[in-house]
Amino acid sequence: MEKSLPTIKPESWLVSAGRASEPGAPLNVPPVLASNFIFGAERGYARGDGTPTWEALEEIVGGLESGKAAAFASGMAAIAAAFDQLDVGATVVLPDDCYQGVVGLANAGTARKRWTVQRVAVEDTDAWMRACGSADLIWLESPSNPLLRVADLEQICAAPRKPGAIVAVDNTFATPLNQRPLDFGATVSLHSATKFIGGHSDLLAGIAITRDESFWRALKSSRALTGAIPGTLEAFLAVRGVRTLALRLQKAQENAMTLAERLAAHPFVARVRYPGLASHSTHRIAQRMLKGFGSVISFDTLGTARVADAVCQRVQLIRHATSLGAVESTIERRAAIPGQERLPPTLLRLSVGIEDADDLWADLDAALRAAM
Ligand code: PLP
Repeated sequence: MEKSLPTIKPESWLVSAGRASEPGAPLNVPPVLASNFIFGAERGYARGDGTPTWEALEEIVGGLESGKAAAFASGMAAIAAAFDQLDVGATVVLPDDCYQGVVGLANAGTARKRWTVQRVAVEDTDAWMRACGSADLIWLESPSNPLLRVADLEQICAAPRKPGAIVAVDNTFATPLNQRPLDFGATVSLHSATKFIGGHSDLLAGIAITRDESFWRALKSSRALTGAIPGTLEAFLAVRGVRTLALRLQKAQENAMTLAERLAAHPFVARVRYPGLASHSTHRIAQRMLKGFGSVISFDTLGTARVADAVCQRVQLIRHATSLGAVESTIERRAAIPGQERLPPTLLRLSVGIEDADDLWADLDAALRAAM
């Protein structure tokens, strides 16, 4: 069978790609725990040349976005490799709502006079298009973390760019199944594979995908020189996890839509932010950009931060923990995180898992009523 996306659906690719085909080979690529290989073939030392286990992950996830992938130690390692491509004096444009690690990385570079940073509102497409004319790195994150605002990647990626400019899209919240930024012309799509790709809260990994051969080589060179390589066991677990991404995502986003609608009608909830709701500020853009609206919901409780904290303490099926995109539902108050004080104090970010929707609702509703 020709294992390429034009001929088979992503759901089939996820299951069939990244496997050996020689007779007698293991059906699943095993964790190849090797730092070095006997001379005489292309692979000599794992940090520069990779391992079959990382390559299986790269083949599967790269193929999902019809590009070539490089796997990293974490999402931040992949992101840092993209920033590493900038020359000193570069101009970086970041969304006004964005994962705080990226903001921290960008600010650290500004403090060392490596680049200057401009912030643009996620949904201000005209401002992004204007920025494309002069920026060296256009950094998009869509849907954004944690306000779940969706950028018009189609228009922004089509805007005239400064020659050599990089358009990078953090596609973690959408997953390769809901959004393919490279189709719109982005240079690179990045994921914290810690989240949906791994899907089980048991690993840290990152992955960057591009259709630009020289950019791919540059990312791999940066990975080798900084040592930001994925662990072999983590890559093995990520391969195992990604096999079920389609099923997990489908169930989780069905659950999320159910919970978002019920939360929107709840007497103790002030506001629900979910791109699938018509009330969401970027719902119209989300309808065009996303195949599915994802499984993360942010909502504000009535009252004060004390109420929101109490909800986190009261839930039982839903776990009070950070991160997202796993089989289990988790909840956290984002403004409690140092540096996140800009966020509404009662905003709870809920990553909806694959449990039964009514059980999740019963847990959330009971926690909200007990917390008020
Ligand atoms: N990008 C987004 C949107 C994230 O939410 C995160 C982590 O939460 C990262 C990147 C960083 O990923 P990692 O924790 O795997 O380094």
